[in-house]
Amino acid sequence: MESTKENLIPSPCLLCDSNDFTHLIDWVDRHHLPVSLSICNTCGLRQLNPRMNSKELDQFYSSKYYSLYSMDNKSKSDKWVKRKQGIAKGILDAVEKHRSLKGLRLLDIGCGHGFLINEARQRGAIVAGVEPSVKHAKRLLDKGFDVHTGTLEQFINTKPGLYDIVVSSHVLEHSDKPCQFLQCASNLLTHGGLLCAEVPNAEWQTTYGSHPVSIHTAHLAYHTERTLKALFETSGLEVLSVSFGLNGGSVRAVSQPGPVKALADIELDDPLDVTRETIRAFKRHTSPWPFNKLHYAVRAARKEIVKLRFKHALKTERDG
Ligand SMILES: [Zn+2]
Repeated sequence: MESTKENLIPSPCLLCDSNDFTHLIDWVDRHHLPVSLSICNTCGLRQLNPRMNSKELDQFYSSKYYSLYSMDNKSKSDKWVKRKQGIAKGILDAVEKHRSLKGLRLLDIGCGHGFLINEARQRGAIVAGVEPSVKHAKRLLDKGFDVHTGTLEQFINTKPGLYDIVVSSHVLEHSDKPCQFLQCASNLLTHGGLLCAEVPNAEWQTTYGSHPVSIHTAHLAYHTERTLKALFETSGLEVLSVSFGLNGGSVRAVSQPGPVKALADIELDDPLDVTRETIRAFKRHTSPWPFNKLHYAVRAARKEIVKLRFKHALKTERDG
C-alpha cells in the first residue's frame, strides 16, 4: 500500500517510548512527499509522527529511496564529493582522538559511496562495510572493498567477526529502531572497541533557520547533541566525546559499551523550549514577502554567527 499520512498510525517515541507528543508542522518535503513533525513531550526528540513502519520502510527503500536520494547526478559535483570527504574525515578524526586507526579492523554501517572506508584505509585501518543498496555495494565490491550487501540486521545473521571500530555516518536518523540499531552495532565490537555515529544536527537546522525545508520523509528522527547522547546512553553506550561536523550542521558521538542509563538520569532540553524555538524557526521560514526576503538576509547573517559558535565549541574541545 502507498504510504500516505492518512494511513500511517502514530508510533511511540524513537528515544523514550512515550506516546505523549505535540504536533509541530505538516509539510511537503523536497521530493513532494507529505511529512508530519512532532516533538516528544517527555524527552524533547523531534521526530516524524506518524511515520512509516518497518515494513513500509523496507518497501520505500526498495522502490523509491534510491531513485529519490541516490545522488547519481550530485555525485558528479565537486562540492558534493568534498562534503562527503569532509564528513568522513571529521568522523575518523573524532575516533582517532581516542585511538589511532592503524592496523585496526573498522566496519562502516551504511557505507554508501565508500568515502569513509576509503579514507580509513588510507589511515591504515583494515576496512569493511555494510550497504543495503545493491548498486552502491557492487560498485565498492568491484573496487576490491570487503562489503556486505544488505542491512545491519541481515549482516548480524551472517555471524560476522568483531571490529575494533564501528562507525555509522548519517544512517541512524533513518532507523525506526535506533536503540536496537546501536545495540546491534555495539555487539560487533571487540573488547575496548569504539562506536561512532553522526547524524544531522537539528539544533543547527532550527538556529540557522533551515527548518522545515530540511525535514524529509526518510529522516525519522531530528537529533540535537543532548538527544543523541541520551540515545547512546539508554542503549548501553558510554559517550566518550561529542563533536560537530559540517560547521555545526551535524553532530556525532564516540562511545564504548557501558551501563544502560535511565532517561531520568540524563540531562535533556525542556521540550517546551524546543517546541517554542522550532515553531519560531518555521515562522521565520514561511513568512510572506517582503518579510521572507528580510528573513533570507537575517538567515545569512545568522548562519555566520552559528558557524562561529560551533567553531568555538570545536576549538574549546580541541584545546581541552
Ligand atoms: Zn521521547
